Amino acid sequence: MNATARAGRRLGFALVAIAIGVGAVLGEGCGIATVYPVLDLPVRVGELDGDYLWPYGVHGGGHPEGHAGFDLFSTQERTVVASADGTITVRKESDGPGGEDVEIAVGGGLLVSIHHLTPRSGLAVGDQVKRGETIGHLTLIDGRYMIHFHVGMGVSKPCPAHFLKRSDLEALGSDADQPGTLMSLSSYNEKADEPKLCNSM
Ligand SMILES: [Zn+2]
Repeated sequence: MNATARAGRRLGFALVAIAIGVGAVLGEGCGIATVYPVLDLPVRVGELDGDYLWPYGVHGGGHPEGHAGFDLFSTQERTVVASADGTITVRKESDGPGGEDVEIAVGGGLLVSIHHLTPRSGLAVGDQVKRGETIGHLTLIDGRYMIHFHVGMGVSKPCPAHFLKRSDLEALGSDADQPGTLMSLSSYNEKADEPKLCNSM
């Protein structure tokens, strides 16, 4: 990525972070303002435990390119809910190591991708889902239950924290006024070098 693109992305993230304070996220595109919904975490924070979150942008754990989302973990099989009202646009088997990929279009071109989900019975492309509605549960992989929670805007994969509501950010141990500050409750090998909720890609 060149310097101009980096600067543009920083500006975009800054706009997103500012807009979250008023409960909506303003995007740019062809001169038409687009409003993105604020997202709920797909798993209740209190139901995540242990080393419960693999952060954005970490260049480890099989992601030399930088991890493009949050991975959420629990020691128990937990319910996964829709982060906002939307339409199911993808349901397919994950590349590995288990579960399925489900994508929800939630408005303004924003996509919520859940990887390694065990979908609820009958969930199908074209279904309308409501914020908080159960879409499935965490999948048991390598001894713990998990999903990956990624967000897409066109070809870019911004840090999910920029779209989360303040109470979820605070519950994750991050400073809601500065999404991306160090989480006290997550531990991972690369923490010393990439200590934030949203590390740079
Ligand atoms: Zn992931």
